[in-house]
Amino acid sequence: MPNIRYNDIAAANYSRFIGRTLLTNDRLRHYFDACFQSAIDEAGCYPVWACVGCIGNGKATAAFGNAPRRCPICESPKVFEVATFQSRASVVGNAFERAVRHLLTARFELPATPTPGNTHTHDIEVTSAIAIETKGSPRRLLNPDQSITTLQRPGLERSDTWKKAQANAANYRRNNRRNPFFIVSNAVPPDLVGYRSDDITGIFNITQAGRVNALVNEVNAALPGQPN
Ligand SMILES: [Zn+2]
Repeated sequence: MPNIRYNDIAAANYSRFIGRTLLTNDRLRHYFDACFQSAIDEAGCYPVWACVGCIGNGKATAAFGNAPRRCPICESPKVFEVATFQSRASVVGNAFERAVRHLLTARFELPATPTPGNTHTHDIEVTSAIAIETKGSPRRLLNPDQSITTLQRPGLERSDTWKKAQANAANYRRNNRRNPFFIVSNAVPPDLVGYRSDDITGIFNITQAGRVNALVNEVNAALPGQPN
């Protein structure tokens, strides 16, 4: 897989979709969607399917998108998704983390940095006193043939992703009794809106301007040196 320029992608799309304008839900959504798309375009890990029936007959039938029930050429049901998912999950996860970090630093001048060392519980720190775990992935992608593929369960709407985030929060809490642990996503299902627990300080949908401001307020209040 090629080297993806995540920082450049975040900076370019931030200038294009947000810049100095007022934060709105639409602008935030366009910004994060564009960061996902740009990273996928650089990596090339689009959803693709292939027909094993056709390959057996010397024809390489493959196309962008989710696998159809039957091959449109030979009508074989032996059609399978090409395994781009794992690569795509990593690419969109990185793109989202970089996009969140760029928003926090460029717009709010927060000292948000990648988590150092071998810490796997969270992606971003705002000083060592605040942990932010990012869980983002796109709802749909534009393929090179201009078709659009709708993807399954973006962000925290995927139960595996939510379980992983909870496990990360619990691991973090074992070593940090008091520090806040925030979870940021582009897709938060209704039952997780406003969710808090002993491990999770808050969950924020970063595509909603009101939630971005709420996150920044909580981060600022938790920064060392702030009056309580
Ligand atoms: Zn076929």
